[in-house]
Amino acid sequence: MPHPSPDVEWGAGDASREPAGGAMPAHVYFHVPFCASKCSYCDFFSVEAGRAREQAARAYEALFEQWAGWVSRLGLRLATTAYVGGGTPTALGAARVAAFVATVRAEMCEAHDPEVTVEANPESLDEQTVAMLADAGATRVSLGVQAFHDDLLAVLGRPHDATRALNAARTVVSHGLELSVDLICGIPGQTLDMWRSSVHYAIETGARHVSVYPLSLESGTPLAAEVMLGRYRALDEDLVADMMLLARNLLEDAGLRRYEVANYAEPGRECRHNLAYWTGREYLGIGPSAHGMLRAETAREAGFVVPEGAARVRYAVAADLTQGFGEWPAMTVETLDAEQAAREDVMLGLRLAEGVALELVERAGLGVVVEGLVARGLLERTADRVRTTDRGWLLGNEVFGAVWTG
Ligand code: SF4
Repeated sequence: MPHPSPDVEWGAGDASREPAGGAMPAHVYFHVPFCASKCSYCDFFSVEAGRAREQAARAYEALFEQWAGWVSRLGLRLATTAYVGGGTPTALGAARVAAFVATVRAEMCEAHDPEVTVEANPESLDEQTVAMLADAGATRVSLGVQAFHDDLLAVLGRPHDATRALNAARTVVSHGLELSVDLICGIPGQTLDMWRSSVHYAIETGARHVSVYPLSLESGTPLAAEVMLGRYRALDEDLVADMMLLARNLLEDAGLRRYEVANYAEPGRECRHNLAYWTGREYLGIGPSAHGMLRAETAREAGFVVPEGAARVRYAVAADLTQGFGEWPAMTVETLDAEQAAREDVMLGLRLAEGVALELVERAGLGVVVEGLVARGLLERTADRVRTTDRGWLLGNEVFGAVWTG
């Protein structure tokens, strides 16, 4: 594959400075659908690597083939952010993931100040792996810690303990990589004090980005079944809300600003890749179960049949190891017209602390809906913007659902 032309540059990775039109999206997500073992609460598309050894062994090669397919249809451009997620990218071995990251950097991210994130789990992130990722050109590691208590990690079916998580996090920081720590609240058996200490540990690792999610008991998962059978008791909703508020206070006291409903960062260290999702930027999703979003013109150029009047195309690659790999994988496709796209932008923008411009709300035909949510204290208006209140964030599904259905 040819290397990117050095004179095609999209700025310093600031999404707002990307060109308004043009070929290849500047943000690329790769889904590595393999993990060491399956966590009890997980409903993501991931397979235990030991159960699909052959496919796992050539997963990175297959992801690269799919990327090359996009390049041949759209023409090579620089990407400003890449996110190697999953699944557990580090579960396939340090050498494989580091070689893939090096290729990503060489082929896609010669833009000034690229952001290259690798998701990792503590059981597969030792000193050598971190060193190899740093050498290969990764800039961030998003570490799935979830809790710093062994009992809670056992409830979640995580294959690591708290000590391993702490060591992995500190190793990332010591190698100069940006660290993001994922935490889950609302785990059966978790107390407010346990939650407080998990957030403290996350801060003490030196992470300047922390993501906080309430546990979601998805039907069909072993944990949901155990709760149904009474082996574990789901936490009271009010307690989970208290945990979310406590996290906000502790993280903001530590200088990490809430910039999205679930994400906190030191100013300037927000995840630029994820910001692209929430600000209506195009992105490619590559690999089984990955999602992508393209403007209609880009999608046509890539070979999608896009009806007249469509403004945006969303696609989801098949969540299947056979159909989801390959140069042109099986996918489901949805098109949105201009008003639906604007409504989607409002819905996603309301996840952000800065909210959305009133002008966009009007364009989406959502003035009345937004006024109703303001009257209920779920949104608040400033002179030219509308944003979600603390109460609105606690009732996020209600707010986002009302905006989406109009
Ligand atoms: S590590 Fe993540 S993707 Fe893998 S099984 Fe656990 S929750 Fe699912």
